[in-house]
Amino acid sequence: MRNREILNKNIDEWIKEFPLIKEVVDTKMVFWTNPKYNSFEEAIKKVSLNEKDVEDAEKRLERFAPFIAKHFPETEILNGLIESPIVRIPKMEKALENMFCQEILGDMLLKMDSHLAIAGSIKARGGIYEVLKHTEDLALEHGLITLEEDYSKLANEKHREFFSKYTVQVGSTGNLGMSIGIMSAKIGFKVIVHMSSDAKQWKKDLLRSRGVIVKEYESDYSKAVEEGRKLSDADPMSYFVDDENSRNLFLGYCVAAGRLKKQLEGMNIFIDKEHPLFVYLPCGVGGGPGGVAFGLKLAFKDNVHCFFVEPTHSPCMLLGMMTGKHQQICVQDFGIDNITEADGLAVGRPSGFVGNTLEELLSGIYTIEDNKLYVLLSKLIDTEGVKLEPSACAGLMGPVNLLKNEVKVKYLNKNNIFDNMENSYHVVWATGGSMVPDDIMNDYYNKGKELIESMIQ
Ligand SMILES: *Cc1c(COP(=O)(O)O)cnc(C)c1O
Repeated sequence: MRNREILNKNIDEWIKEFPLIKEVVDTKMVFWTNPKYNSFEEAIKKVSLNEKDVEDAEKRLERFAPFIAKHFPETEILNGLIESPIVRIPKMEKALENMFCQEILGDMLLKMDSHLAIAGSIKARGGIYEVLKHTEDLALEHGLITLEEDYSKLANEKHREFFSKYTVQVGSTGNLGMSIGIMSAKIGFKVIVHMSSDAKQWKKDLLRSRGVIVKEYESDYSKAVEEGRKLSDADPMSYFVDDENSRNLFLGYCVAAGRLKKQLEGMNIFIDKEHPLFVYLPCGVGGGPGGVAFGLKLAFKDNVHCFFVEPTHSPCMLLGMMTGKHQQICVQDFGIDNITEADGLAVGRPSGFVGNTLEELLSGIYTIEDNKLYVLLSKLIDTEGVKLEPSACAGLMGPVNLLKNEVKVKYLNKNNIFDNMENSYHVVWATGGSMVPDDIMNDYYNKGKELIESMIQ
């Protein structure tokens, strides 16, 4: 194991260059602060995407709003926009302070993408956006619609029949397949979702019940993606959603930021130098958290600090960003097994597109072990009555970890923000959970309860 070569270096040589890798390889919980973190003004110069791209995505979602409202009545209250609530979680904040003996400065809020319409996860942003973009491209190309028309007309039978000649395919650990699958099937596309063995059974069942073809693969997510891509490329009528490199997925996620800003303002929360914002985003391949973080940097510049969270057994983005090798390396190269209960985050190889885009914009990444996820899951139900899936609980440790002494010195003091921490806001991005069946949620809850009890003893 130790002698294995990874890009011409063995593990000891990697550890010598980046000492934190030792703890990462031992699947310890770590907190990495990004040494390349830079001012927004400087960092953005090196990125090819900009505000115009995000505005374009916002406008496209607005054009599709009447169509979505028609197909999914639950979105009618928001006029066909798919958006989630944000709530304060003071009781959970207190509980975290008590459980982990760590004072939390500032107010905690929960951004409940867990309760997004249609897909019940953050994937309702990127996944649905990309399917809509593809739909619009086809509709414009074939003269079914003009940009000025009411898009609800695309929901009629004639158009559904047109779309049924086309196939959409995607590789997924679960939630991306749910969002792409449900949306594509509604529009009329034939859909094939290629799923890894760790995908939850109920997600496969739900998709099949909606007419989606689910193909299962024994190995992990990367294999499912590879196979899906191959099959799709061989069929000229098929479109492949590329989770690792898609600009469209990324832009769909970016749109969250401008909407969050408005929600915060509606709660009388104004972010500035004296009132900094910290955001904690669970990370799999990187598209979801990356898109949201990029949008947030455009919206709040140097006053927002974005941190990703990964399972200790799937720290792909951490290894990719720390070494600067991004998609060239995977956790298995380092002998890490990529086995985690957090199925939404069980990704061994990060997106190089996301890693490069956020190279100087991301503040840091911490890792969390599976048991902690269950503890947080139960505690959140007991304190705030909110049910999340395990992956989505990862961000809840953010404020606790950020304020620990060694991180405080490395990040808060270094960037001169510690004095404003009393006035800060911590947004925990709750990325999924509302579609988890009750019996499975009960099992999660009980597991967390047992773990909490064993902590007390
Ligand atoms: C997909 C997912 C994430 C992470 O998104 P990536 O784009 O894979 O990084 C986080 N939480 C949940 C619940 C997810 O389904």
